Amino acid sequence: MKILFIILDGLGDRSIKELGNKTPLEAARTPNFDFLASQGICGLIEPVYQGSFPTSKDAHLSLFGYDLKKWHMGRGVFEVLGIGMDLRKEDVALRGNFATVDSKLKIIDRRAGRISNTKPLIGALQGMTIEGVKFLLSPAISHRVGIILRGKNLSDEISDGDFHKTGIKAPKILAKANKKEARFTAKVLNEFLLRSHQILENHPLNKKRIKEGQLPANYILAREAGRLKKLPSFRKKWGLRACCIAGGGLYKGIGRVLKMDLIKVKGATGKADTNLEGKFKTAKRSLKKYDFCYLHIKATDNFSHDGDFLGKKKFIERVDKELPLLFNMKNTLIVVTGDHSTPCKLKEHSSDPLPVLVFGSKKDEVRKFSEKECRKGKIGKIKSLGFMRRILTCNF
Ligand code: ZN
Ligand code: ZN
Repeated sequence: MKILFIILDGLGDRSIKELGNKTPLEAARTPNFDFLASQGICGLIEPVYQGSFPTSKDAHLSLFGYDLKKWHMGRGVFEVLGIGMDLRKEDVALRGNFATVDSKLKIIDRRAGRISNTKPLIGALQGMTIEGVKFLLSPAISHRVGIILRGKNLSDEISDGDFHKTGIKAPKILAKANKKEARFTAKVLNEFLLRSHQILENHPLNKKRIKEGQLPANYILAREAGRLKKLPSFRKKWGLRACCIAGGGLYKGIGRVLKMDLIKVKGATGKADTNLEGKFKTAKRSLKKYDFCYLHIKATDNFSHDGDFLGKKKFIERVDKELPLLFNMKNTLIVVTGDHSTPCKLKEHSSDPLPVLVFGSKKDEVRKFSEKECRKGKIGKIKSLGFMRRILTCNF
């Protein structure tokens, strides 16, 4: 049996007054999701996570059966891998934003006016070496950047250089552990950020931006340091040849960490304009070669963070329209769920359980794919960490 595993990011939601006390998924017209639900079995998944709310990274790893207590890694690792950088065991990886600061390093804009072309800036900083540590950078989407520290005696036990706030001085990186490696890493990274600031201040692209009335990208806010752990590949863990189809960097990074093959789809953007048709067709084709296809769809979460419940509802309807492309696949389980809930009214992730449907094996009484209806399904309520094993044994 092959498995197509579709994750709609931040799918779960709470009832919304403006939608007649329905969730976006309940309010959406979804004949095709409902068809899969009515011909399959449904349930609720409780995300397993660390900290106060589930992150996409932790929620995904748990869903794929990786115990976070053992396999926790800073998000920087996933981000740099997701944008195609090569990461070595001894490296420290961070994600960062190009930002705008004033002459006293006070943060004016955390995204430098959402600058899109950072390549010339990155070129000016690439390969800088401080006390034997080399700094490697690569552009991510829009104002974002991946940063790798390569050298000896490094540690990822360092604080974030970004508190997600403006109007404050850019935070210094501090050692989080009383270890000389952590202090050394914080020191060279702070030095890199200061030297970068001086180079960026004088960069012709920034001078041009100021002239044109745009904010200069003159500082990097770096955060979520991590190191690559050698965790068992998805294939080794589950005995399945797996591929990953995703638009967003983090999700490609998750695929790479688990050693899934990344399959590129033209127009897969990780946003609402993504090429759903291309992704679904590619997924269907990929399952001729692979046993497991992880297909990630991001925009449900983006709409939720914006509090745009109508946008989320419409986007779910758009996904539903393309679903028939996946019908008539032989010997294939189709799993549809989310990684975590992102209620539009909260605009943040929450620990609310997620609806899940499994089409292609058994059947239960559920006729509609929604948070409320899936509660009555045969799968019952299950923790994300145990879900893969349940699917593989078809033990519902
Ligand atoms: Zn997510
Ligand atoms: Zn999110």
